[in-house]
Amino acid sequence: MSTIVVVGAGVSGLTCALQLAKQGGNTITVVAKHMPGDYDAEYTSPFAGANVLPMALEYNRWEGETWPVLKKLAETVPEAGIHFQTSILYRRAKDEAAGGSLAGPLSEGLFVRNPWFKDLMPDYVDLPASELPEGMSSGSSFTSVCINTAIYLPWLVGQCRARGVVFKRAVLKHISDAASLSHITGRKPDIIINATGLLSCRLGGVMDKKVMPARGQVVVVRNEAAGNMVSTSGTDDGNDDELCYIMQRAAGGGTVLGGTYMKGNWDGVPDPNIATRIMKRAVEACPALTGGKGIEALDVIRHAVGLRPYREGGVRIEKEKIDGTWVVHNYGHGGWGYQGSWGCAFRVQELVDEIKSELKVGSKL
Ligand code: FAD
Repeated sequence: MSTIVVVGAGVSGLTCALQLAKQGGNTITVVAKHMPGDYDAEYTSPFAGANVLPMALEYNRWEGETWPVLKKLAETVPEAGIHFQTSILYRRAKDEAAGGSLAGPLSEGLFVRNPWFKDLMPDYVDLPASELPEGMSSGSSFTSVCINTAIYLPWLVGQCRARGVVFKRAVLKHISDAASLSHITGRKPDIIINATGLLSCRLGGVMDKKVMPARGQVVVVRNEAAGNMVSTSGTDDGNDDELCYIMQRAAGGGTVLGGTYMKGNWDGVPDPNIATRIMKRAVEACPALTGGKGIEALDVIRHAVGLRPYREGGVRIEKEKIDGTWVVHNYGHGGWGYQGSWGCAFRVQELVDEIKSELKVGSKL
């Protein structure tokens, strides 16, 4: 058996732990400062919508390999808290007229016409002009999923525990502190997985200065959006780092109204002015939310802020030897940590296999 310590219990760490536990031949301990059930802006995963809106400009394996897994969970595992929704993308006339990539603050690839993911996501169609709201020059719809993170994260924990993974609380000052944290007393791990998200910018031995928060403010409401998730290519009543998206979580998780993507902003407290703009835009983009009434008809469950782990240059998934122990990094997923989670975990497993092969450990080898 190889001994593995996974640092981090967000969607990245939990998905890796589950994938490695399914593989067999690994004794796995997950250690983390925050666990599912905790709410802290710097622990991003509970705050995500979370849905699948592919963001890459061209095919990438993170999103491409994750979709089939989430789709299968939505079809066959109701206790995972994932359901299908119709995703509607509206491109505003003024954004398309401005040309360029329509990058917006969130994604490069989401709002381009004829995107690569039209072949990945089921039922992808361009909307007829008659179905476009005022001010929109084009739009598309496809079948996607929305994940109730309050159900999915504990489900991942349960799946790990069923396969023998042990969970421990710990706050690491340095990634090498993990060397003494396996639940097998006295056993130094063969491999450490670093899935510390945003806090990788402060963790000794990593201190990645390319990582910073992309602040995401949301309003969660009891109102429903008639089975649709709506996103628009831009907003113009706030700043360039504000967004408009709506997604209804599975199994009574409420509807998430977003949002913002404020790079470098560590403020974990909801801003009431931004909240008002989020609600106003959501009701305009999806009148079904309030049956045609205004924002007073929204029934607010909570206002919240999560800090996405943005990384300049993209996600870091690679192996590195630190203080004599192999570390596999998996952090910096920005706004796509769920929709890329399984693809990333598959890559982590490949790197783990390479290391095990070199170290000649693990019963599968
Ligand atoms: P985290 O969830 O932050 O987990 C990091 C873990 O590492 C935690 O357990 C933490 O305690 C631990 N840790 C860190 N430092 C230490 C330390 N020193 N010692 C011990 N433990 C440590 N993604 C999508 O795919 N779809 C969406 O629709 C979507 N919507 C979003 C909406 C909002 C408002 C926000 C904020 C994010 C959204 N995201 C979405 C992005 C997604 O939430 C993130 O990409 C993802 O949660 C990152 O997960 P992670 O596991 O890498 O990090």
